[in-house]
Amino acid sequence: MAVVGGGNSALYEAMHMAKFVSKVYIIHRRDQLRATPVVQERAREEPKIEFLLNTVVEAVEGGDSVEKLRLKNVVTGQQSELKCDGVFVSIGLKPNTEYLHGLLTLDDFGMIMVNDRMETNVPGIFAAGDIRHNSIRQTIAAAGDGAVAAVNAKKWVDEG
Ligand SMILES: Cc1cc2nc3c(=O)[nH]c(=O)nc-3n(C[C@H](O)[C@H](O)[C@H](O)COP(=O)(O)OP(=O)(O)OC[C@H]3O[C@@H](n4cnc5c(N)ncnc54)[C@H](O)[C@@H]3O)c2cc1C
Repeated sequence: MAVVGGGNSALYEAMHMAKFVSKVYIIHRRDQLRATPVVQERAREEPKIEFLLNTVVEAVEGGDSVEKLRLKNVVTGQQSELKCDGVFVSIGLKPNTEYLHGLLTLDDFGMIMVNDRMETNVPGIFAAGDIRHNSIRQTIAAAGDGAVAAVNAKKWVDEG
């Protein structure tokens, strides 16, 4: 298996996967990982994990499933192939909120600002789940947000 990324999420993903597979490659574009030192230490102690630093994925190749990655070393420019059965990309998330710029108040990352009723700055527009500022990005929290937004949206409609 391969995991792309160098932050805590990528390393946790790799360590979790190492319980089930024979080998995990962590592919990171820089020479230093972004993960906190304690997480890096734990990942480096896992013998099934191998780090491919200064490396980017140029292509994912295969038929019905992933068979190999085409890699490039960003320092030497050398290209190589890595056989693997799967790839997990863990390089962060970009919210799809560009179309809301100028309408809703967003934070610096593009997440929607809401109050504890899931109301945005525009009356009648609610936001819930991963897309809202300060979400813990878990299914159960997104569902809870949805319930809060739904109840308050109904109130807003009823009270006109
Ligand atoms: C790899 C991975 C593993 C995860 N593992 C876990 C886990 O183990 N446990 C856990 O609790 N959570 C996990 N999560 C987080 C969980 O998936 C999210 O918290 C949850 O899906 C958030 O739900 P949501 O409805 O807010 O957003 P989403 O599930 O992202 O749904 C948003 C929907 O809106 C649609 N959409 C986007 N833009 C528009 C638009 N302009 N118009 C209309 N529709 C649009 C999207 O297509 C999508 O269907 C994981 C997430 C990832 C990526």
